[in-house]
Amino acid sequence: MAASLLSMQAAVTRTAVSATQTAAGATSSSASKVRLTAFSPVTSNFHLRTSMLPDTLPLRTTNVRPLSKKAAEEPRRNAGKVFASVNGTGSSPGLPIDLRGKRAFIAGVADDQGFGWAIAKALSAAGAEILLGTWVPALNIFETSLRRGKFDESRVLPNGGMLEIAKVYALDAVFDTPEDVPEDIKNNKRYAGASNWTVQEVAEAVKADYGSIDILVHSLANGPEVTKPLLETSRKGYLAAISASTYSYVSLLKYFAPILNHGGASLSLTYLASERIIPGYGGGMSSAKAALESDTRVLAFEAGRKHGIRVNTISAGPLRSRAAKAIGFIDDMINYSTANAPLQQELKADDVGNTAAFLCSPLASAITGTVIYVDNGLHAMGLAVDSPCVAKATSAPSEKSSIPA
Ligand code: NAD
Repeated sequence: MAASLLSMQAAVTRTAVSATQTAAGATSSSASKVRLTAFSPVTSNFHLRTSMLPDTLPLRTTNVRPLSKKAAEEPRRNAGKVFASVNGTGSSPGLPIDLRGKRAFIAGVADDQGFGWAIAKALSAAGAEILLGTWVPALNIFETSLRRGKFDESRVLPNGGMLEIAKVYALDAVFDTPEDVPEDIKNNKRYAGASNWTVQEVAEAVKADYGSIDILVHSLANGPEVTKPLLETSRKGYLAAISASTYSYVSLLKYFAPILNHGGASLSLTYLASERIIPGYGGGMSSAKAALESDTRVLAFEAGRKHGIRVNTISAGPLRSRAAKAIGFIDDMINYSTANAPLQQELKADDVGNTAAFLCSPLASAITGTVIYVDNGLHAMGLAVDSPCVAKATSAPSEKSSIPA
């Protein structure tokens, strides 16, 4: 079970990692090469149409109209329905997640399948203006898909509005300043048409375009040797994983902190392999996530004292993201979680999105330096209850759990 969990997360990161490696001129898998050939250089930043501003996203359902029996059995899905009905009647939910007037920059969105997209939707549903940072080699296909309406269905928000993206910025979070970019990347055709995509330059561009932001989200990871056990990981691969998956967050916060309004919030995504052995989540990726969680605490102190910014990280359960599906291990990970987690339900990207909206809202104004688990409780398990070895030792209910509303 642990092995499958690992494989999943490994799968999630493998494609992106390999792609980065390819861009950096290092060895990559043929699958990654095939995928990357679909990417082409991009120069422009993408603008979507203006939008209807959504109202607010309720944190809880208790202060709104009573849930139906069916809804009570599916509280997560119902959250959206409640949101829609409350706003449809014009009544106040009483305890809203209200991000109207806030602006969010979300780094690590290149399709509508990952956590970054779900976070963008939740923040938008709560009223925030959305800016995205998209990895340069993936930008062209992402922009094209947006323009052609490929994501229109998944852009729909609980209140019937649409996720509106004010601007998409080209970004490669591995490079802090133009001086850091090596010649092979400068001359790489996948980067040829793009400009101003280092972290410093993107922060400057956001400042020039919008002046300031209120929310910074880091939803990206990359580890070129993620499939290798730690014992077989090279120094280069290990450091690359740390650079792309951890220091990228330090860098983003460093360059965006000056334009993050006081009282702002910052968020990253981590994984259980940071603190528990997940065989298969290799290449230094477990180390990168452990460092990310440690950095979350230190940055919470430093950014809190200096800028009044909160810093948290969400430890997410398995998600069938695009990268994970391409590799093919994600179903095992999800099955493992469903079989062994306290809550026997598949994690939705929206579960993480809604938690992110809460964490970035004033409702979480006293929460910082924390790892928040959004994994159906899998992190709390010390035993794989589906293991034949423990069949007689477990007395946990096997029926599908019903979560009280
Ligand atoms: P995803 O593929 O949707 O997101 C990863 C993003 O990182 C991609 O958009 C990719 O283009 C981007 N990226 C890679 N290298 C980059 C770089 N150098 N600069 C800028 N962007 C870069 O997958 P996801 O699963 O949504 O991953 C988002 C975060 O969630 C990651 O930190 C991941 O480790 C974490 N996470 C995922 C899972 C899971 O099961 N999918 C579980 C726990 C944590």
